[in-house]
Amino acid sequence: MQMPKVSECSVSSCAYNDNKACHALAITVGEDPDTPICDTFFESDTPGGDKSATAGVGACKAAECEYNADLECTAPNIEVGMQGNEADCLTFNSRH
Ligand code: SF4
Repeated sequence: MQMPKVSECSVSSCAYNDNKACHALAITVGEDPDTPICDTFFESDTPGGDKSATAGVGACKAAECEYNADLECTAPNIEVGMQGNEADCLTFNSRH
């Protein structure tokens, strides 16, 4: 199984974000199984992550997503951005 990459993240207020890229080594998505919130989102004055790295999706609890298999993401890559007031996986596609 390949770890999908976060190809773009527009959440500029996150400590791991620089220039529309996520630099955490890996993120976790889906605190609530029905909602694809980025659980790694974190506001801090301390910049986070490794600027030479592009985040992968280490785990995803959004079991309702068509790309979710055994609580892992099988999409080729994902995009993250604000929906309302939360940082969400924009690639989420409900099975229903
Ligand atoms: S595409 Fe679906 S399975 Fe992959 S991280 Fe987003 S919500 Fe989770």
